[in-house]
Amino acid sequence: MILKIEKYGSEKLRVPAQKVAVTPELVVLAEDMLETMYKAKGVGLAAEQVGRTEALCVIDVPLSCEDDEETKVFNSGIVQPLVMFNPEIVSFSGEQTGREGCLSLPNVGGDVTRPFEVTVQFLDIKGVPQIVTARGFLARAVCHETDHLKGIIYVDHMDEKSRDKVIKKLLKKKSK
Ligand SMILES: [Zn+2]
Repeated sequence: MILKIEKYGSEKLRVPAQKVAVTPELVVLAEDMLETMYKAKGVGLAAEQVGRTEALCVIDVPLSCEDDEETKVFNSGIVQPLVMFNPEIVSFSGEQTGREGCLSLPNVGGDVTRPFEVTVQFLDIKGVPQIVTARGFLARAVCHETDHLKGIIYVDHMDEKSRDKVIKKLLKKKSK
């Protein structure tokens, strides 16, 4: 089922998520979120973005999104889509600055600095604890989605001037 995506300005995007147990109902939610993400041509979606409060996000970053061969090889061992319940970044290293977008802020994007590598632990769709280390764009997606679960949107990381620019552009597109 395709779910309605909350847009920037919605209070629902600002509510911190609650940890959950993996139930059959939440597996259905995860599947609906994947369907919604693929239809919207996104690479990640958090439960906040479909108006829910469960700590759940889904990610599917194609290897072709990665800048360099080394990162492609590193990430190629990670089975995607990632369905992550109660995700928590347990360690991170390095730094990268690059363009980010969000299905809740359609058709705009901006540069954000993130760690280059992150290790995230979570429960998978079967409720089994997993730990994954990702680099590059996939690491960026993990940061972006786990941020959503804290009520944080990528533009919050930008300086005021850059953020205003993105929001102005967003509002302009909306009124068209
Ligand atoms: Zn987002």
